[in-house]
Amino acid sequence: MALIVQKYGGTSVGSVERIKAVAARVKATVDAGHTLVVVVSAMAKETDKLVKLAHDISSNPCRREMDVLLSTGEQQTIALLSMALQALGQSAISLTGAQVGIETEPAHTRARIINIQTERLERHLKEGKVVVVAGFQGITQGLQGADLEVTTLGRGGSDTSAVALAAALKADLCEIYTDVPGVFTTDPRLVENASLLTEITCDEMLELASLGAKVLHPRAVEIARNYGVQMVVRSSWSDAPGTKVIAPGGSPRPLHNLELGRPVDGVRFDLDQAKVAMLRVADRPGIAAGLFSAMARQGVTVDLIIQSIHDGNTNDIAFTVDRPSLNQAEAVATAFSVMLHQPLKGDAAKGAAGKEDSRREGARPESARPEDTRPEDEVEVILDRDIVKVSIVGAGMIGRPGIAAQMFQVLAEAGINLQMISTSEVNVSCTIAAEHCDRALAILCKTFAVDSSPNQVSTPDPESPPVRGVALDLKQARLAILRVPDRPGMAAQIFQELAAANISVDMIIQSQRSRPIRGEMTRDIAFTVPQIDLAIAQQTLEAIAQTLDNAEVTADSDVAKVSIVGTGMLGRPGVAARLFEALAAQSINIQMIATSEIRVSCVVSKDQGADALKAAHAAFGLEDLTQRVEIPG
Ligand code: ASP
Ligand code: MG
Repeated sequence: MALIVQKYGGTSVGSVERIKAVAARVKATVDAGHTLVVVVSAMAKETDKLVKLAHDISSNPCRREMDVLLSTGEQQTIALLSMALQALGQSAISLTGAQVGIETEPAHTRARIINIQTERLERHLKEGKVVVVAGFQGITQGLQGADLEVTTLGRGGSDTSAVALAAALKADLCEIYTDVPGVFTTDPRLVENASLLTEITCDEMLELASLGAKVLHPRAVEIARNYGVQMVVRSSWSDAPGTKVIAPGGSPRPLHNLELGRPVDGVRFDLDQAKVAMLRVADRPGIAAGLFSAMARQGVTVDLIIQSIHDGNTNDIAFTVDRPSLNQAEAVATAFSVMLHQPLKGDAAKGAAGKEDSRREGARPESARPEDTRPEDEVEVILDRDIVKVSIVGAGMIGRPGIAAQMFQVLAEAGINLQMISTSEVNVSCTIAAEHCDRALAILCKTFAVDSSPNQVSTPDPESPPVRGVALDLKQARLAILRVPDRPGMAAQIFQELAAANISVDMIIQSQRSRPIRGEMTRDIAFTVPQIDLAIAQQTLEAIAQTLDNAEVTADSDVAKVSIVGTGMLGRPGVAARLFEALAAQSINIQMIATSEIRVSCVVSKDQGADALKAAHAAFGLEDLTQRVEIPG
């Protein structure tokens, strides 16, 4: 006998028949001996209808009134489902978020849960009732006699209500019932033979959810990860087992500050990395594929990879490798750069044909290299042994762009220059000069009130596939600020100002090539932002550029971001290379590359996004050739 929280989404309670079917499933679960809390969404499209009504009345409705209005959708379904249960002879009681005591911060239309009162819930459960709770809504805390206000958690927030209740009640399981059979390797509407996953880890789910996979509200996964809630996503139309979302078993956390607790739960460092940068590599399909397949063939494990375009015709690619493989990596990179100088056939020869690299004296430290005095077409390989990678990790960074900015800021204040930056929803990593390592760790631990630990040596888990899922995000834009002075604090300033405008930035890439402008070195910084934030982000950057001598801002919204995600790629060489090869085989040019521990993302042109997704999906054998998925609705 278990305590189970079941959550039913809008389509699952979209009609009287569906509500009756849900009641029957709930009753069957109780009859099997389980104790049940049920969380429901509003009936399908109901919330959209309410939003439309509000906008028909006012172009800019007040957020407080929006919450009062939108919370009524769920209030209907809880009452109807309770009635349906009672009609089946099952005692049940409906409760709004306020009646339960789902306490939130006062941020209307996007409130985070602070605490959940469990006394009343537990009392009704003891009475043998099924408690039906309205998802998506809460109530402010009313501290010091403040007025109680109804709040909502943000669109899609019922998942978050359900997992938060499961955490508060220490439920054995949280089942998310939806209109699809579970979590797929990719969006089945875009890739016909997407396959259903039997399981996925919370970290993988978080990365995928933030990359445009819409199955679960990312905040729900965040809570599951932090509180160790075991979750399953399954269809309310069938008895199929669905997809298990595996939460790590952590130390128990207090319920207080449920969604507001520490956003960062650890600082990691990796002393065993070295950096390789290749400058002025031709910008055409197949380059990254060639380079990283050669690395993989030599058994070089590549960790961070970043690539960004320069001056419109060549790319810089930088990556980190395990220090013991540095010599091998250098040999591969050098051979590759020589190969690029051989005359090539056809169009691809543009910008790559030319002389042997006769003046190369092998790798030099970055600081000693003459700046931009080389011919346009000369590839240069730069090695740096004296780097460390420092990272902050934690699911609480989702939707809080200020956290990465804060990391950059405190490092800048200590005079520590950031070399490579790579960001994801659950991880921000930078490489810095090795001499600053101890200071950087001390500062980060103090700032985020956590401990530091070395990155675990990743031995590949033979059980996990290298890639669990792939995602396409067509709603991102690419922004760059060119010729930014290369000194501590620039990245901090830029990302702090973007964070202040509440803009989440992804795939931050700082160029490896520096250019001297009146005696000061400059670098380019590129990144992606959600398209809806592009105008504000661009304005923010322009304002910063105005204060700098030669800076310039460029933007491109015709981009697509294709990502592969999998914990199994840790410590397995060749995973990124396989993605690049698959794209090259389709003649898809990669504009930007950014990796984090468990994901590789590429920016390609928008019209090639869907093909890139299909190619990535096929490259990792994710297709299900036995069945086609029917998606209702
Ligand atoms: N009814 C809300 C929405 O449509 C919450 C939810 O369904 O999760 O966004
Ligand atoms: Mg939903």
